[in-house]
Amino acid sequence: MCGIVGYIGTQAASGILLEGLKKLEYRGYDSAGIATIFEGEIHCVRAKGKLRNLQDKLEGLDSPARVGIGHTRWATHGKPEEHNAHPHMDTACRIAVVQNGIVENYRELREELKAKGHTFRSETDTEVIPHLIAELMQNPVEDDQSLAHQSLFLQAVKQAVNRLDGAFALAVVSADYPDELIAV
Ligand code: GLU
Repeated sequence: MCGIVGYIGTQAASGILLEGLKKLEYRGYDSAGIATIFEGEIHCVRAKGKLRNLQDKLEGLDSPARVGIGHTRWATHGKPEEHNAHPHMDTACRIAVVQNGIVENYRELREELKAKGHTFRSETDTEVIPHLIAELMQNPVEDDQSLAHQSLFLQAVKQAVNRLDGAFALAVVSADYPDELIAV
């Protein structure tokens, strides 16, 4: 069982995310990672193995980012390697997602999104999610008036979740919406 954490607030996010991941260590994991947003970019750092490895990679970076998500992974789809570790991002690296669970219909979605030009970098079920959100931000499927007062980002996440089969929990951030952290 993996764990997911998210932080949005006034303090530096990286250290808080790392502390959160340490509290989830007892659940077992094979890799870990965090994504934070700073100056309009997503900064994603991931490492195979112990949290110590992630901590070593973050050492000295001292990011002032105030929003971010983190993950400890227990692989179900795709080997426990760094490129399969979460967070996963869309092709343009504007959206980052961590998932606890399984997306059962990921194969169909992956083929559909590849055909639309999205570039995949992992073998996980999870990676379809950021690509699907990016696709729906560009091409919303329906004109749902009940969502009209919400940000395009939140609308796209809701529409993406409607297309996913399985049991899962998500945390999602976007470089274009640095004041939002979406939990599903
Ligand atoms: N199914 C996802 C993966 O293999 C998430 C596994 C988990 O819950 O850690 O990456």
